[in-house]
Amino acid sequence: MPLPMRALNKVWFAAFAPLTLALSLCLAGAGIARADQALLKEIAEAPDAGQLQGTVQTLVNFGTRHSLSDTASAKRGIGAARRWVQSRFEQIGRECGGCLRIVTPSQTVTGTRVPKPAEIVDVVAIQQGTTDPERVIVLTGHIDSRVSDPLNATADAPGADDDASGVALVLEAARLLSRYKFAATIVYGVLSGEEQGLYGGKVLAEYAKAQGWRVEADLNDDIVGGTRGLNGVIDNTRVRIFSEGVRATETPQEARQRRFEGGENDSASRNVARYVKALAEFYIPNWTVALVYRLDRFGRGGDHSAFNDVGFPAVRFTENAEDYRHQHQDLRNEGGVEFGDTIAHVDFAYLAKVTATNALTAAAMASAPPPPGDVNIAGAVTADTVLSWSAAPGSPAAGYRVYWRETSLPAWNFSRGAGAAQSITLHNVAIDDFAFGVASVSAAGFESPVAFPGAAGAFWPSQKP
Ligand SMILES: [Zn+2]
Repeated sequence: MPLPMRALNKVWFAAFAPLTLALSLCLAGAGIARADQALLKEIAEAPDAGQLQGTVQTLVNFGTRHSLSDTASAKRGIGAARRWVQSRFEQIGRECGGCLRIVTPSQTVTGTRVPKPAEIVDVVAIQQGTTDPERVIVLTGHIDSRVSDPLNATADAPGADDDASGVALVLEAARLLSRYKFAATIVYGVLSGEEQGLYGGKVLAEYAKAQGWRVEADLNDDIVGGTRGLNGVIDNTRVRIFSEGVRATETPQEARQRRFEGGENDSASRNVARYVKALAEFYIPNWTVALVYRLDRFGRGGDHSAFNDVGFPAVRFTENAEDYRHQHQDLRNEGGVEFGDTIAHVDFAYLAKVTATNALTAAAMASAPPPPGDVNIAGAVTADTVLSWSAAPGSPAAGYRVYWRETSLPAWNFSRGAGAAQSITLHNVAIDDFAFGVASVSAAGFESPVAFPGAAGAFWPSQKP
C-alpha cells in the first residue's frame, strides 16, 4: 500500500529530506504508480448519515427481527424485515441499470437456541466484477435481533445497534459502490440467525464455497453505531477491527512450519485488517482503525468466523466502546437506567465513517489485482532475503510490491517495488529479523493486501502440483 509510506514520508521530511527524496526516486524507479486514488477519496466522503438513519429506523419499526419471529406478517417480524431489505436491493439494482443480482441462500437448522427446525434465510446482492468475477469481496451485517431471553421471539427487540447498524452500512455501501464498475465482484450480505448461533454467516460462507467464489475477504460489521461506552467514554474517532492471527484451517504440519518460520501474526485475515487500517486512516480524517489481535471480542462470536472456518479471510468491525445495557436487553427502566438497544444510542455520523471505512476498502480491493499466490521465501544463513511468488488467477497485476517490517511492529514499514518480476532479492536484509510479504499492483496503482509467505499467510489455495 502506498499509504503508510506516504504518511511516514510526511513525518520524515523535515528531518530527513535528502534521504526521503532518495527513497522516493528509488520507488519511482520501480515503475509503479503511487498516486492518491480519486475514486477512494470520493467513496470515503460519500456515506450519508441520513440514509443510514432511515434504514435503522425502518428496521426498528418491524418490532422484532428475532430469527424465530413471524415470517408471514407484512409489518412485524423477520420475514417482513427481510422482504424490505430485498426490496431495497432491488431498488438500488434498478438505479444502476440492473447491476445487482439477488439471491437468498438458506438452511434449515436446529440447535440450543433453535428448539424446532427453523429456516435461516440470508438476503444477498451480488455486483458482478468486470474482469475477475470469481474473486469476491463480501460485506456483511446481521438483520436478526433479540432481547434478554434468546428464545423470546415476540417481545419488541429493536436491535438498532446490534445489528441494524451493520445492515444499514451494507445497504449504504451497495447504494454507493453500485455507481461504479469494479474488476472483482462485491457481495452485500444481510444475514440471519446470528443471535441463535451464528447461522447466517455459515449459510453464506458455505454458499460462497459451493459457488466456487474466491473470497478475498469478508468484512463483517456487527455493533458499529455506538460512540458512548458503558464506562462513560465518548469517542467518535475510533473503530475496532478483529482478525484471527493463526488461520482456523491450519494443519498440524503447517503449525510446525509456522513455529520455526513465523506467521502467527500474518494470516490473510490479519493482513486484510492492516490493509483496512492503512487505507481508512489515510482517506478519512481524524480516524483510527484499532487492530485487535484476536478473532473477536473476548469469549464472544460473530459471523466472520464462519468464513474463517472454511478458509476464507474475514474480519469483524465493532464500535470502540460498547455499552452492554443497550445490547440483547429487554426494554425497561431500572433505577433511572434505561436498558434496550434503541435508536437513541446510535450515532449516525459515526456510522457513516465506519461505512466509509468498509466501502473504500471493498472498492480498493475490487479495483486491485488479487494478492499473489504461492509466496515463497528463502535466505537462511545468507545476508540476503529472496522472495518469489506467482500471479493468482484473475485480473493480471501490472507489478508487485514487497513489504517487510520488524517482527514486533504492527504495520509494514518498509517496501520496495519489484516491477513486473515475480521474484526479488533484498540485499543485506536479514531473513531472521523481519516479517515479509508481497502485494499485487494494478496499472492504475491500486494495491492488494499483502500476502505473507507459505500457508500461514496465503489468500488462495496453492496452484503448485
Ligand atoms: Zn450482533
